[in-house]
Amino acid sequence: GDVSRFSEGKRVVDDPDIGPLIETDMTRCIHCTRCVRFGQEVAGIMELGAIGRGEDMKIATVIGQTVDSEVSGNVIDLCPVGALTSKPYRFSARAWELASHDAVSPHDCLGSNLNIQTAHDTVKRVLPRTNEQVNECWLSDRDRFSYEGVNSPDRLLQPLVRVGDRFEEVAWEVALQRAASALSDIGKAEGPSAIGALASPTATLEEFFLLQQLMRGLGSDNVDHRLRQRDFRDDSFAALFPGTELPVERIQDAACILLVGCHLRKELPLVALRVRELCRMGGQVAALNPMDYEQNFPLTEALVVAPSALPAALARIAIARVGQVEVPEELRQWAELIADSEEFARTAKMLSDVEGEVVVVLGQIAAQHREASALRAIASWLAQHTGIRLAFLPEANSAAAWIAGCVPHRRANGDGVQEPGLNVSQMLTARLSAYLLFGLEPTMDLAAAGNLVSALSDASFVLSFSTFRSAVPAQADVVFPLAPFTESAGTYVNCDGRAQSVEAAMDPRGMARPGWKILRVLGNYLALPGFDYITADDVRSRVNLSLPEVVCRLEEGCPLPGAASKSVPWS
Ligand code: SF4
Repeated sequence: GDVSRFSEGKRVVDDPDIGPLIETDMTRCIHCTRCVRFGQEVAGIMELGAIGRGEDMKIATVIGQTVDSEVSGNVIDLCPVGALTSKPYRFSARAWELASHDAVSPHDCLGSNLNIQTAHDTVKRVLPRTNEQVNECWLSDRDRFSYEGVNSPDRLLQPLVRVGDRFEEVAWEVALQRAASALSDIGKAEGPSAIGALASPTATLEEFFLLQQLMRGLGSDNVDHRLRQRDFRDDSFAALFPGTELPVERIQDAACILLVGCHLRKELPLVALRVRELCRMGGQVAALNPMDYEQNFPLTEALVVAPSALPAALARIAIARVGQVEVPEELRQWAELIADSEEFARTAKMLSDVEGEVVVVLGQIAAQHREASALRAIASWLAQHTGIRLAFLPEANSAAAWIAGCVPHRRANGDGVQEPGLNVSQMLTARLSAYLLFGLEPTMDLAAAGNLVSALSDASFVLSFSTFRSAVPAQADVVFPLAPFTESAGTYVNCDGRAQSVEAAMDPRGMARPGWKILRVLGNYLALPGFDYITADDVRSRVNLSLPEVVCRLEEGCPLPGAASKSVPWS
């Protein structure tokens, strides 16, 4: 009959709610503790643990707490029985329905390798693609779950033009014609320098290249992607692109790292895992930050100073580390702004006592500092006199933007311009007549969001390329629906200088189109020469990704300028 001979009570375990990303089905759990050991050994953030013994053993969080770490989703891949599954994906598709596509994450300067899985014209889930030189086998949660935005009802799927005080959906031809006419008219009436373009650092190399080609075709060098940067005084000294002298895959082999203005766990969660590995192997890490951030690796020295004192504190450490060398007057002046302390001497000693590679990492807090050029100059002076390696972490795909010429003082491939255009900060205070906003969220992405709002209010024409309706500024006159990274071919250059090109994982939704196609056609409407590309490959071929500086940096960790040059750019 259908009567089971199993007469014991079945073991059933409650399914705790551990947050919005991971669903639990704990009756399936076989107590292998892989999820626990991931937190303990790899992530350094123990959020899951085993409680009880024998029959009563359960995998759980600390009473009632959720799993919140920036790499928590990796336990989904690790769990062998499906006790931990992806909450957004669970039961939304059958595994055999899914089509897999290679992709690269645009969210940080690591360029994690992704496997985007789609079904029924929808991204269903994102998994890691193993690449030992980049993300190993892990993914950060923002890389894994950001696809939910791509599927969101906030997506902009039709071109818009302003009619009175509201937007009206129109055909592409109408929107393109309106934008081209307005840009031509302003260029003729007020000169091309009355037009400026701001791009999100998450755009692709092809989009950066075409945006700057379009702007320079119009006659304006006012093009920039460094939306959160506030200090541009060392532009002319800058390397071909900001990045790391020690390739990411060798970070865990370094002997010592000094983090300056860098919350590594949030900026580059997967590089933080490598730094944790460095500590497990006996390496040392010190941090000089405006806050005592919670790190997932032990700090030998945690120096906390006021934000304004970051350059002074770094100058103290640099002078103490370099020792018997003539100190430039500018550096001495910086050091005198803060009282000397034991901590600076201990950190300097730590940098000199270790055997092996020493790396000074300037993160996003340093890059966005009011005295960012001084921080870079001090770090360069230190490297110049000690052989210490530098890492100036770029934001998202910023390395590609530099190489593609999406900066006001350089064209593609590092070629110079006669007269530099306006940088982001200058464009916002100059009150230009027309702004092109490429893929950015005006209220979130800029250091001076308030300045942007007033600049847009005073402008006579605003063209917005936007993936989301909520990111369209109220002042926009024409809006182009921009395909997100899942729906666009493109190239990403990471902090090592590693260029990774991918195809679109799926067709664009609605009337949205990849940025490189929109810019290419807008160039045609403006009758600009050289806009006859057929594919993203054609655009990419205009950028030389085999420049000696790119290849040398990637393969041998060549120095960033400033470290090697005698002319440290003091400001
Ligand atoms: S990985 Fe899965 S099966 Fe293993 S202990 Fe964790 S929840 Fe249980």
